Amino acid sequence: PPVFDNSSAPVIRAPRGPQRTAKGWIQEAAKRMLMNNLDPEVAEHPQELVVYGGRGKAARNWAAFHKIVETLDRLDNDETLLIQSGKPVAVLRTHEFAPRVILANSNLVPNWATWEEFDRLDQAGLMMYGQMTAGSWIYIGTQGILQGTYETFAGAADKHFGGSLKGTVTVTAGLGGMGGAQPLAVKLAGGVSITVEVDPTRIQKRLETRYLDEVAENLEDAIGRAEKYKAAGEARSIGLLGNAAEIIPQLVELNWTPDLITDQTSAHDPMWGYLPVTTPDEDAAVLRKDQPEVYQKRAYDAMAAHVRAILELQKRGAVAFDYGNNLRQRAREAGVENAFDYPGFVPAFIRDSFCEGRGPFRWVALSGDPEDIYATDRALLELFPDDARLQSWLTYAADQIAFQGLPARICWLGYRERDRAARLFNEMVADGRLKAPIVIGRDHLDAGSVASPYRETEAMLDGSDAVSDWPLLNFGVGIASGAAWMSFHHGGGVGMGFSQHSGLVALADGTPEAAERLSRCLTNDPAMGVLRHADAGYERAQDVARERGLDLPSLGI
Ligand code: NAD
Repeated sequence: PPVFDNSSAPVIRAPRGPQRTAKGWIQEAAKRMLMNNLDPEVAEHPQELVVYGGRGKAARNWAAFHKIVETLDRLDNDETLLIQSGKPVAVLRTHEFAPRVILANSNLVPNWATWEEFDRLDQAGLMMYGQMTAGSWIYIGTQGILQGTYETFAGAADKHFGGSLKGTVTVTAGLGGMGGAQPLAVKLAGGVSITVEVDPTRIQKRLETRYLDEVAENLEDAIGRAEKYKAAGEARSIGLLGNAAEIIPQLVELNWTPDLITDQTSAHDPMWGYLPVTTPDEDAAVLRKDQPEVYQKRAYDAMAAHVRAILELQKRGAVAFDYGNNLRQRAREAGVENAFDYPGFVPAFIRDSFCEGRGPFRWVALSGDPEDIYATDRALLELFPDDARLQSWLTYAADQIAFQGLPARICWLGYRERDRAARLFNEMVADGRLKAPIVIGRDHLDAGSVASPYRETEAMLDGSDAVSDWPLLNFGVGIASGAAWMSFHHGGGVGMGFSQHSGLVALADGTPEAAERLSRCLTNDPAMGVLRHADAGYERAQDVARERGLDLPSLGI
C-alpha cells in the first residue's frame, strides 16, 4: 500500500449543535459527516484518512480533504459539488432540489477492474478506494456491523429455529473488526456461540468491550460450557483460542455437531488474512516473509480442510452458511469441488428482507446530543409497534451500545416504512423535539443498491447476479429524487472486479423542502429493492409491489 506523509495530519472531529457555517444544512451535514468519518473514535486509521474495511478512505489526501471542507462552506443552495475518488473536481450550477454533492469512487472500466490497475492509479495519486460508506461519508462505526450481523442470525432463527436461537449453539471463527460482532449478535438472537480465534489479543479486545462473555480452556471445555448454556436456554458467548482449520475438523472427529456453523476469518485474503496451521515452534510471520509461496499454499490447504469439515457438519444436520468472506471460493481453488454446497448468507437469510425493500436504515444526530437519538428510538418504537425484531433491537441497542463520534442509530426498515420514519424525524426537528437536523442514510449493502455476485446478488432466481444496471438505476433515482448526496462505487466489500454499488444520504432539517425530498428519496430508494427482486421473479417482491402500490409495467403490476 502507498505510504503517505501524514506527519502533519490534523485530528478531526465534526462540529456539533444547531449553528452552521455553511450556506445550507445539507452542505453543513456533508461536511460534518466527512469529518465524523475521520473522527479517531470512528475511523480505523484517521491519519491516513482510512475509515474502515482495509483501506476504505473518506478523501484522497489531506489537501483534497481541506479543499472539500472549504468548498462545502462556500457552496450555494443551487450548486452541486462533484467528487472524483475523494478529490473535489468541480462546482456546477444545478437547482435547489438537486443533491449538493455527487461522488464517484474507485470506478474502473470492467476490463481494467483489477487490484493491480487500481493500485497503479492509487499510487499515481489518481484514485482512492472508497469501500462502501467510507467514501460516501455515512460510516457510523461498529454499530452498523453489529446490527447487520444480528439481522443475519435473526434471519437464521426465523428460517430454522422458530424465531429465536434460544437453545441452539452456533460455531464460527474470527473475532476481528467485523467478525467480532458475531458473539454479541448471536446472543441478541437468543443463542449460545463458540467463536474460534487464532489471535489472543483479538479475544481479549472482545472481552473488554463486552462483545464476548467468556473464554474456554480448550475445545472440550468449550463444548461442555456450550451444552450447559444450551440446556438452560441461556444466551451466552464463548471464545476459544485456536486455528479454525484445526478446530472445526476436530468437531467432526469428536462427533459433535453444532446447530449452526459459519466463519468470518479474513479468507478473502490468503496472504495477509487467513492464518495457516502452524506448529508451536513455527512463526507464521517469518514463514510468510521467507517462503511466501509455501505460506500461501498452506493457507489454501487449511481453508480446504476447514470447508470440508463445514460440509461434513452440514451433512450431519448443522445449518451451514458462508459469511461473505470468500472462504468457499478459496477452498474450491484448493480442490474442494463441492465447496459451494452451502449457501451464502444473503440467499440463505437476507433475501426475503430484500424482497420487501428491507435493509439498513441509519441516522445521525448533528446536535451531537445522545438524547436526540434516544428520542428517535422512542418515536420509532411507537411508529412500528408490531415489528418484533425492531422492537427488540431498539430496546436493547438503546442502553447497550456505545456511540462513536456523532450519536447514531441503525435499524432495518422496508419499502413504505423508511419514508414514514424520515418524515417523522423531520417533524421532530421542525417542532423542536430534536435539537438539530438528522442525517439519514444507509449502507451500500442494501436491497436495491448493489450488484455483487458472491454476496448481495448471489444466486438470484433468474441468474442476473452480475447485472449492474440496477445499482446504476438506483444512483440515478436517488439523484432524481433529491438526495442530499449520492455516490456510486466499485469494489466495496469483496474487492475490485466483484461489486458495483450506490449510496444515498438524505437530510431532515425540519423544512417543508426536506419533507418533500425525504418522501421521494426514502420511498424510491427501497422501492428499487422491491422492483429489482420482483423483476428477478421473486413472488414475495411481486406481492409487496402489488400490496404497496408500485407501478411495474413489464410485470403488469
Ligand atoms: P479481520 O481481518 O479484522 O479479522 C479476521 C480475524 O480472523 C482475525 O482476528 C484473525 O486473527 C482471525 N483468523 C485468521 N485466520 C484464522 C484461522 N485460520 N482461524 C481462526 N482465526 C483466524 O477481518 P474482519 O473485518 O473481521 O472481516 C472478516 C471477513 O469477513 C472478511 O473477509 C470480510 O470481508 C468478511 N465480512 C463479510 C461481511 C458480509 O458479507 N456482510 C461482513 C463482515 C465481514
